[in-house]
Amino acid sequence: MSDTKAKTAEILDERRASIFTADGCGGGGIACDTESVSGAVSQRACVFCGARVVLNPITDAFHIIHGPIGCSSYTWDIRGSLSSDQELYRHSFSTDMQETDIIFGGEKKLARAIDEAVEAHHPKVIFVYATCIVGVIGDDVMAVCKAAEERHGIRVVPVVAPGFAGHKAIGYRLAGDAIMRLIGSTPADRSEAHGVNILGDFNLAGETWIVKDYLHRIGVEVVTGITGDSTYDSLMQAPTARLNLVQCAGSMTALAKRMEKELGIPYIKISFYGIEDTVASIMRIAHALGDPAVIARAEELCASETAKLDGLMERYRKALTGRKAAIYVGGGFKAISLIRQFREFGMDTVMVGTQTGREEDYEVIRSLVSPGCVVLDDANPAELEKFMLEKGADILVGGVKERPLAYKLGVAFCDHNHERKHPLAGFIGVKNFAQEINSSIHSPVWKYL
Ligand code: SF4
Repeated sequence: MSDTKAKTAEILDERRASIFTADGCGGGGIACDTESVSGAVSQRACVFCGARVVLNPITDAFHIIHGPIGCSSYTWDIRGSLSSDQELYRHSFSTDMQETDIIFGGEKKLARAIDEAVEAHHPKVIFVYATCIVGVIGDDVMAVCKAAEERHGIRVVPVVAPGFAGHKAIGYRLAGDAIMRLIGSTPADRSEAHGVNILGDFNLAGETWIVKDYLHRIGVEVVTGITGDSTYDSLMQAPTARLNLVQCAGSMTALAKRMEKELGIPYIKISFYGIEDTVASIMRIAHALGDPAVIARAEELCASETAKLDGLMERYRKALTGRKAAIYVGGGFKAISLIRQFREFGMDTVMVGTQTGREEDYEVIRSLVSPGCVVLDDANPAELEKFMLEKGADILVGGVKERPLAYKLGVAFCDHNHERKHPLAGFIGVKNFAQEINSSIHSPVWKYL
């Protein structure tokens, strides 16, 4: 799309309730957490993708996609979660449904695929994802999985996630349900509860390891990640944890609520993006656990790590103050952290949107941004281009689908999504983020566009 076309792009009438311009003083809500408008070309992925990205980081799990081969394009490559041991999760397996399977049914083919997987790989758990066409023809995936569990004596967990059954956030909920089906609803003895589970950190570029290191340094044990760098055995220990830490609230709040209700594990929301949120999260964890020695170590760690960043922050503030940022990410919690993080560099956020944010996220966003900032839920490419141009954004933070939108408008870009290979969490993440933002904004290439 040329600049002129982007500037004159019309907003669909049905989309207007999902877009507002912050005026800095409260106001009505935003239409969000609903189905995408037909024909609006949403940036969201499908239900199956939502479920797959949450479960994929379980490193010794076997994932079978029951559907056409095209659905299998969602693989490890779309979420570069790292493993400290097993590598099975990096493979993608599909029943590769063909025309005859669709006409006559694919249940037998799925049962054969499970048998083959067990024989060749001996996994402890298999997740079976039913995608769109299976939802149409009605294969009884639950029954096939149950029979396979009895046949092989391992866990075979169905994830009935046809892409058309809603939007990505529905897939997150289905993944949470699959985890509950796996770990069960029997509470552990709460008097012996110990340590924490980290929910919604997927160990992209090793970020779970960074968080674990901070927790280790303040004396807090991590029972398991859900699901970053987790295994079947570690997940089965999840009910013994004392506290759940919810990093990606969009994908994990529903699971955290179920674990609280059914297993008695309370949860707190945290975010390790930016100095302000990293410090606040470490202190929130320490206070939630209530051990004075942990609180003292947390204070010490935050003071020493932030002091190390003083010089760097001063340098980048000089280079970045006054620049304008646009944000389009998956969940509301990340968007909120990014607004704060840009503020730490003296940058103003002029456009911010999410794929799956909730009303309470948008209320926080409204309270953080300057008047005039455009806030939008479940945006499409035309809207993102229009508002980036109108607001004069210097950089867009987004994922793989947003990258070309920025580049063709001559706007700098920072990947803050699944595919990136460098950590952006914790104090080390602050350094990486600053370097990337700075080098992208000041790249000489923009002069030639
Ligand atoms: S929308 Fe349907 S067909 Fe496409 S990837 Fe998702 S589940 Fe597969």
